[in-house]
Amino acid sequence: KHSSPAQCEFYQAVEEVLDSLQPLFAKTPAYQQQAIIERMVEPERQLMFRVPWLDDQGNIHVNKGYRIEFNSALGPYKGGLRFHPSVNASIIKFLGFEQIFKNALTGLPLGSGKGGANFDPKGRSDHEIMRFCQSYMTELYRHIGPVTDVPAGDIGVGGKEIGYLFGQYKRLTARYEGVLTGKNILWGGSLVRTEATGYGVVYFANYILQDRNSELKGKRCLVSGSGNVAIHVMEKLYQLGAIPVACSDSKGTLYHQAGIDLSVIKQLKLHKRESLTAYLESHQDADYVERDAYPEDGHAIWRLRADAAFPCATQNELNEDDAKALLANGCELVCEGANMPSTKQAVECFISANIAYGPSKAANAGGVATSQLEMAQNASMQNWSFAQVDEKLQHIMKHIFDTASNTAAEFDHPGNLLLGANIAGFRRVADAMIEQGVV
Ligand code: NDP
Repeated sequence: KHSSPAQCEFYQAVEEVLDSLQPLFAKTPAYQQQAIIERMVEPERQLMFRVPWLDDQGNIHVNKGYRIEFNSALGPYKGGLRFHPSVNASIIKFLGFEQIFKNALTGLPLGSGKGGANFDPKGRSDHEIMRFCQSYMTELYRHIGPVTDVPAGDIGVGGKEIGYLFGQYKRLTARYEGVLTGKNILWGGSLVRTEATGYGVVYFANYILQDRNSELKGKRCLVSGSGNVAIHVMEKLYQLGAIPVACSDSKGTLYHQAGIDLSVIKQLKLHKRESLTAYLESHQDADYVERDAYPEDGHAIWRLRADAAFPCATQNELNEDDAKALLANGCELVCEGANMPSTKQAVECFISANIAYGPSKAANAGGVATSQLEMAQNASMQNWSFAQVDEKLQHIMKHIFDTASNTAAEFDHPGNLLLGANIAGFRRVADAMIEQGVV
């Protein structure tokens, strides 16, 4: 901690993993003798660079760009790019660290990386976003490639940004190759990639419930966020007969007892990037709570009565008081779409209450898994159908659930998927690192 005093999100992520690994270290001292943790917490490479760009008025702006290549024991570095004003070295580092275990859990040949910039795309014109992406890629292109490092999207980086980034990579390298995932289906993307993280979260939630002789059908659900992950969680929930009754954005929370009208949310968020308040124009029976009116110690969405909660916005968006409120209101399932959305204390509440809890690095791995399917299609110059990719995604989510669940049972913590996911992910990467020597 002394070498990087401000990286609190990164320490939070590391501490959570270290706590879970104690039963493994007790059984297998070789991991400590080989200094695996000491090597794993240090990224193989960290890039920080200047991203200068011109706005529509001709003013010069400068943002901080990042790419962290964390661990390549299992394959090329893989992980998304986040464009959000809150991005800093700690955020990118915690995301890259989590990605190591998530990618290992998929069982696929994926190393771990993460990147982004403290650029805020909100309120920027398409031309400004394009110029920013081109400037960002003008530095990044020399560090990435289809068998070295393959970035994807995350908060603030969707299909449009991936398009501009890919165009600039192609111009600089004169190579048309699978260097980014989340591409449009017209020019090298995979079907289901857009939906994959959200759909995967819901498949995972259903596997947890089935294991407890329950199901999602009929359950009333809270889904925070209203971006890519939240929208596709809600879509799959409806397909499986559950009812999402609330969602949110950075300005407030929307509650609609009859069920969120997803076509309106898609229109507002995917096509126009508008606030959720506009939902009330077509649905006067819905309620909206502004962020300023949130409970002092928490978030309005988690104070609503429901059977299940899906945090899908951002890190640390669900704290201990929120967790207690969810449990008091009878919530039986929490399944995480966002990365590290629950604080350490909130997670402890879920685990000690023994409710169904799907930790993010297991539950939201469907996105990166489908990115690997996109890489496989690019490398073999094939296009698979929606049904083919969706079937593979379901198999991968089942594999992740079984791996986390069996590993939790092996270490005498049956049902503790956080412990199972951390140990199983760590063990796969650690074994590969040991076999590859001290590098
Ligand atoms: P988007 O940018 O599409 O959507 C993010 C949503 O969260 C928006 O509704 C945004 O509100 C809201 N949000 C962002 N920051 C905050 C904040 N500080 N407070 C409250 N609300 C906030 O991102 P994604 O849906 O892609 O990502 C959401 C989460 O899922 C992230 O944690 C990401 O790392 C994780 N994830 C994403 C994957 C993917 O494939 N996209 C894969 C695995 C994990 P507003 O509209 O007002 O900005």
